[in-house]
Amino acid sequence: MSTYQRSAAPLPALMRAIGNSYSLWQAGQGRLCIVNYHRILEKHDPLVGNEPDVAVFREHMKMLADCFNVLPLHQAMQALQQRRMPPRAVCITFDDGYRSTYELALPVLQEFNLPATVFVTSGYVDNHESMWNDRIVEAVRSVSGDTLDMRDAGAGRYRLGSVAERCGAVHELTQQAKYLPPPERMALIERLESATGASTQPLMLSSDMVRALHHAGIEIGAHTVSHPILTSLSDQEALREMVESKTALEAITGAPVRYFAYPNGKAGLDFDQRHVMMARQAGFDAAFTTAPGPVTVSQDLYMVPRSRPWDATTFFYMLRLLRWLAG
Ligand SMILES: [Zn+2]
Repeated sequence: MSTYQRSAAPLPALMRAIGNSYSLWQAGQGRLCIVNYHRILEKHDPLVGNEPDVAVFREHMKMLADCFNVLPLHQAMQALQQRRMPPRAVCITFDDGYRSTYELALPVLQEFNLPATVFVTSGYVDNHESMWNDRIVEAVRSVSGDTLDMRDAGAGRYRLGSVAERCGAVHELTQQAKYLPPPERMALIERLESATGASTQPLMLSSDMVRALHHAGIEIGAHTVSHPILTSLSDQEALREMVESKTALEAITGAPVRYFAYPNGKAGLDFDQRHVMMARQAGFDAAFTTAPGPVTVSQDLYMVPRSRPWDATTFFYMLRLLRWLAG
């Protein structure tokens, strides 16, 4: 499991030195990188190891502000269509609608005057329930003993004697639950919570927070109502998930919701051509995947790739962005 590390002090100077190399500084004319985050943590949490804490997130944002052209998503989509993308173009997005986007990320974005887009799962707004993956984390965290036996719920028996073993249990349970049909997934999570006695703090945005993000200039995009794997639904249900999330978020902000992010976002696995058509039909101007790498000028606007460099330090994160942009 990867974790982020805080960087050493000379980093900005080094980055500027690399940026001053003419060829890299011109990198990415016509290309765009859309980085995506989910949850920002107050402090590092090994059980949620892929998410940066706010100090690392601040380093990322400072580097993006110093070394890249960070554009609002709508401006980048326009530049893509007009083939007028500035060099080193980057957009910042967040998926799912965690309240940490409001509580922790927004102040940092404002500090560096950076635009961003938050793709909100509308059914979790004002809902004190957490997303299923976070419920697994909290359930595993709350076990006081060294083992967790979930064999009678169709899962495994997990050793929890060390942090690494707990991370392993979270990973295995998450992988197992991910592709279960929603009712079976919910049954497994509820069984897990009753076995562990876990209870979670609300993690997702309230409608007041969604409105506050919108008023702060953060674009609100849709991410379905309940975060299903679209390919596991009937066409009718999948379209309803897209349309209803758009309508619900427009009712909260009073503004059009122009963009959609496919839950989980892997083409062919989590969504397919039917859902690409539906995103168009639902009235979105563009839709976003989780494919790695840059957006190029010939990009299908309903399958726009988004990812985030997985490097452990901010320095290598930025180098990889430059490399994606350079092609
Ligand atoms: Zn998501």
